[in-house]
Amino acid sequence: MKDFKQALKDNDMEALRKIPKVDIHTHGILSGTRRYAKEHGIEVTFEPINNITDFIEFIRTYISPIQIKEEGLRTLLEGNFQNCLDTGIKHISTCIEYKSCIRTFNSDVDKFINFLKSFQYDGLEIHWDLAMSRDSYTDDYKQIVLDLLNTKFFSGFDISSKENSVPNEKFKDFYALANSLGMTTKVHAGEQLGADYVKECIIDFNPKQIQHGIRIIEDEQVMKLAKEKGIIFNICPTSNVVLGNAKSIKEHPIKQMVDYGLKVTINTDDILMFESDINDEYLKLYNEGTLTADQLDEIRVFGLSLFE
Ligand SMILES: [Zn+2]
Repeated sequence: MKDFKQALKDNDMEALRKIPKVDIHTHGILSGTRRYAKEHGIEVTFEPINNITDFIEFIRTYISPIQIKEEGLRTLLEGNFQNCLDTGIKHISTCIEYKSCIRTFNSDVDKFINFLKSFQYDGLEIHWDLAMSRDSYTDDYKQIVLDLLNTKFFSGFDISSKENSVPNEKFKDFYALANSLGMTTKVHAGEQLGADYVKECIIDFNPKQIQHGIRIIEDEQVMKLAKEKGIIFNICPTSNVVLGNAKSIKEHPIKQMVDYGLKVTINTDDILMFESDINDEYLKLYNEGTLTADQLDEIRVFGLSLFE
């Protein structure tokens, strides 16, 4: 079999698809392909997404009405895992919102967990991250989030959406519990806001991984802190460029982060939105000269090592 570096150099997509890799920054229901969705009765627009407004509108129009029902939720998640099987992903970490438990399973924790457990595939390990959108959280939901964390079913915990829309204080208890349970704690930070906010999240939550975190390059002291703590940055290049958080693939901050010695992984975020799978992400970084084939292979192997 052709090795990964040669496959990159040859732009050999067929070979790339067969080589093992991970994708550990994905959002469960938004990570299948549009083709899969369409083939399974979910009609989505084929117009491109160019900014965060389009992104929110896309979810509101196409996804929200579908994910409310168990069957819709199942189809969206199956699309995600089918894409993993098609692109060589051996381990996926994928977010599922606690609100799915409330909305779709009437707050029945056991029913929700059994639903998630029903996704089983040969050759693919699924690691579920319990996720929360900052701006839709209120303390009314605190108990169910704690209950879900205490099931010990989830391997990770993550908060996303508009950075700092809610003070970090609201989420500290969840991170303390998740860390004490040995979960892979993650936080979306440094995508929309700068290095100061990344620092704040490191101090407040003590996360093991940061989703994006690309604006950390604005402050070397924060990079130093992250390096000392061994924090892993789960980066999604196309998502960053499409949403205007990075100028281009060529000038993507991942290069500076790698050069500084930060630990990074390469991921897809939301394939349904950005239409760029894991192999596309690696190829774009190679073809634009952002990272070398050696560096990209090291990142790929590092991702796999997290699950050994
Ligand atoms: Zn994300």
